[in-house]
Amino acid sequence: MTKDEAKKYALCEAAAWLRSFLNDDFYSDDYLEFDGPEDGPVVRGFLGELAGELLERAGVQACRKCGCSDGDGCEEGCTWSEPNLCSACAGLADGRPLIEVVSG
Ligand SMILES: [Zn+2]
Ligand SMILES: [Zn+2]
Repeated sequence: MTKDEAKKYALCEAAAWLRSFLNDDFYSDDYLEFDGPEDGPVVRGFLGELAGELLERAGVQACRKCGCSDGDGCEEGCTWSEPNLCSACAGLADGRPLIEVVSG
C-alpha cells in the first residue's frame, strides 16, 4: 500500500464509520448523547456532510448531504441527481436530514 492508498483507505474507513451512525440501528439515540430529541436529525445531518467531505478528499464521488457513494448507497436506494448530490437528498428541502425520511 502506497502512502496515497493508505490515505484514501483511512478517509474511506472514517467516512464509512460516520455513515454507520446514519444507517445502523446499533448506534441508536441512546449511544449518541443529545440535549433533546430534536438534536438527533441535526447531528446526523452534519455527520452525513462530514462523511461526504472525507470521501471527496479521497477522490470518491459522494453525496454532499449524506455522504453516500456508489459503494454505499442510501438504505432506500438512490441515484445521482447531481455529481455530488444523491436523489434521496435532492428530494428534500435544504437542510432537512435524510434520517427523517428513513424513519418516517
Ligand atoms: Zn444523499
Ligand atoms: Zn444517497
